[in-house]
Amino acid sequence: MTDLQTPAPSHLFYVTRLRRPVVERAKGIHLWTKDGRRFIDGSSGPVAVNIGYGNDVVLDAMRRQMEKTTFAYRLHFENQPAEDLARDLAGRMPGDLDRIFFVSGGSEAVETCIKLARQWAVATGQPKRWKVIARMPSYHGGTLGALSVTGDAALTGHFAEQMRPMPTVPAPTAYRDRDNLSMEERGTKYADMLEEKILAEGPETVVAFIMEPIGGAATNALVAPDSYYARIRQICDRYGILLIHDEVMSGVARTGRFLGGDHWNCRPDIVSLSKGIGSGYVPLGAMAAPMRIVKPVLDMGGFAHGHTYAGNPLACAAGLAVMGEIDRLGLTHNAAARGDDLLEELRNLQKRFPFIGDVRGKGLLTAIEFVADPVTMELLPPEVNIGQRVLDLAYERGLIVYFRRVKGGVQGDCVMIAPPLIATRQDIAEIASILGEAITIAAGEFNL
Ligand code: PLP
Repeated sequence: MTDLQTPAPSHLFYVTRLRRPVVERAKGIHLWTKDGRRFIDGSSGPVAVNIGYGNDVVLDAMRRQMEKTTFAYRLHFENQPAEDLARDLAGRMPGDLDRIFFVSGGSEAVETCIKLARQWAVATGQPKRWKVIARMPSYHGGTLGALSVTGDAALTGHFAEQMRPMPTVPAPTAYRDRDNLSMEERGTKYADMLEEKILAEGPETVVAFIMEPIGGAATNALVAPDSYYARIRQICDRYGILLIHDEVMSGVARTGRFLGGDHWNCRPDIVSLSKGIGSGYVPLGAMAAPMRIVKPVLDMGGFAHGHTYAGNPLACAAGLAVMGEIDRLGLTHNAAARGDDLLEELRNLQKRFPFIGDVRGKGLLTAIEFVADPVTMELLPPEVNIGQRVLDLAYERGLIVYFRRVKGGVQGDCVMIAPPLIATRQDIAEIASILGEAITIAAGEFNL
């Protein structure tokens, strides 16, 4: 336990100053440290390593590309891996979203979506439209533009002067509502809050609404009632507002479909991707948009945006190989099947521990939420920091799970479980068993 608490004697400056063991190598769903400990990655890093570590096909593709070139600037040369990956991704996108803009991460992808939406508004003679409505709580990235649509006061608080915080609507946490409405009525109720917000802000000032179809870091595998998705689309259409789906965490087969939004017919206008497309092999992100949005922007002189490493041939060669492995290994199907196994294991834990108020998710993006009372869904007091404690206890036992405490909105303490999509039935059982041990000990410590 001490190794989690001693400040690291290091020149690296990270958010956390906790000492962690030094990683030596990783393969499949496991990592090994220099001192010989084995960890199961039950969270795919930050829900990123979708195809698992050390995949030989991807490593070979990277080696082959490295022999050719690792870099060619996109304004000087086209490159084949970027062309091929763009074609591959376009084929996997919903509707007419067949134009791909590459970046190097999730925050950059979200920035790209926001800037494209805004420039589209200018290009189509709607210069007053600049607000991007977001959800509270939510997480869309750490750079200032992405932060402006992030609903988490712990992250945005110090930087309000540096950016322009955007309007928010409550995230659809229908599972915790205690009213007489059905789930579907609640879904509509949450979607209607978007319409109220649009009307309050003035529809002529709103350019887009950004949401994760299945919640990630801030809302922990939050799935809205089905009615929510169709209604959001209707409302955006009614006011000429673009619907941005942030699929950075929920995309790339994670939830048992290529995109989280593919579980519904919700027709996003712009999609952000990252994490799973690089799968931990390279920094890679992308935005997908349709020609109807891209063309007016190109016609006004081009998109005023770009990064040095955008469309980098090495990153794109790795991304293309990752896509190939998702298909070859049947990972979309495996995510769905193992996700069902995992949810069943988590529901068994819920039977053992009544303070688990909710078990949720789709595919291998799942979470449990701890509450004081599962009937009223009353939250635990802040001093019962059980999410963090379960994370620490699991870590000591060689299992990594995901926990983040968010400031803003109604939010219980959750632990997210999202292993690589190559996980087997046995891996899922082992994850659930260690998690159960960690929860048992934490429950004893907090007298739950
Ligand atoms: N959007 C979502 C939904 C995310 O979960 C994240 C990261 O967790 C980001 C954006 C930011 O991605 P990155 O950390 O690669 O900048």
